[in-house]
Amino acid sequence: MARHPTMDAVIAEATDLLGATEGLSVVPHAPLAEYTSFGIGGPADLLVIPHDLSALLGVLPRLSALAVPVAYLGKGTNVLVSDAGVRGVVVKLSGVLLGLQTSGSEITAAAGESLGAISHLAADAGLSGLEFSAGIPGTVGGAAIMNAGTQGGEMAQVVSWVEVADPNGEVVRLSPEQAGFDYRRSRLREAGRLVCRVGLRLAPADPREVHRRVCEILQRRVGKQPLAARSAGCIFKRPAGDYAGRLVEAVNGKGLRVGGAMVSPKHANFIVNIGQARAQDVLELARLVQSRVREEFGVDLETEICLLGEEVC
Ligand SMILES: Cc1cc2nc3c(=O)[nH]c(=O)nc-3n(C[C@H](O)[C@H](O)[C@H](O)COP(=O)(O)OP(=O)(O)OC[C@H]3O[C@@H](n4cnc5c(N)ncnc54)[C@H](O)[C@@H]3O)c2cc1C
Repeated sequence: MARHPTMDAVIAEATDLLGATEGLSVVPHAPLAEYTSFGIGGPADLLVIPHDLSALLGVLPRLSALAVPVAYLGKGTNVLVSDAGVRGVVVKLSGVLLGLQTSGSEITAAAGESLGAISHLAADAGLSGLEFSAGIPGTVGGAAIMNAGTQGGEMAQVVSWVEVADPNGEVVRLSPEQAGFDYRRSRLREAGRLVCRVGLRLAPADPREVHRRVCEILQRRVGKQPLAARSAGCIFKRPAGDYAGRLVEAVNGKGLRVGGAMVSPKHANFIVNIGQARAQDVLELARLVQSRVREEFGVDLETEICLLGEEVC
């Protein structure tokens, strides 16, 4: 990673500050590959794991005053981390910002809760609407920010509100309109907001029927997607009127390789890490596939995954 003396000084100050702050675990030079489903990427200068929301909110204004770059990580199932790593502070939210409550047909979920846990809770409680999310392996915070979804539905259809923190640690509740959900994106991500809690409005239903639909969707995924391989889910967004997987398959993309990255032979819209892949391998392979599809069909495939770290962006 390129060193920058001013940035090094800021990071050193942040390391001292955060290391001495109650309620945070701090890991210098944390290997981010270990924290992502792709298993790719270099270290973060500093990985911060808050023990609870108040510890996190307390530290945000201090980081802001230091002007240290801050990035958020949920379960890391939709990110490709730069080989050079990430300068600044990465805050890990999965497994720490926890809490689920049901009230009538609304579920309130803290951002670090997994979508899987929420979809099981909803099914047990006889609440329908989240079945589409069965098998999406991320946190609800990451799912809200990305407006995660499938052909069967997306987060925008069930989110009733989102609580976000600004860099001063102030929490505000936003409506779905203010969150600006769109296909696999939201205004929240572009504004760099931290999602703290999400309200999900569901509909009463027979629990057995909800469980049945969840099982059906999970089985379909197992049959179609390379779930045992290391990936970040679909690599490309769905182009208008078509499917990225169909286009990639049509240009003989399945099985194509660059270094340790390969287009999955099982599903052409997944790039998988078949061992020691670098972020650069994934990006080169994605570009190769994009150029073949552009040449053959005149379609520009847009990547769906989030790039973390300066040198891949
Ligand atoms: C096998 C597999 C299948 C998948 N299938 C699907 C699918 O069907 N549909 C789909 O949409 N996605 C799918 N994904 C991608 C991914 O699981 C979803 O996008 C998921 O919602 C991301 O959640 P995460 O916690 O892993 O987020 P991360 O990958 O950790 O982060 C994604 C982005 O959100 C930001 N972020 C995360 N949490 C927060 C927060 N609390 N506040 C602010 N920013 C935050 C990160 O900075 C990053 O920019 C799949 C992934 C895999 C590996």
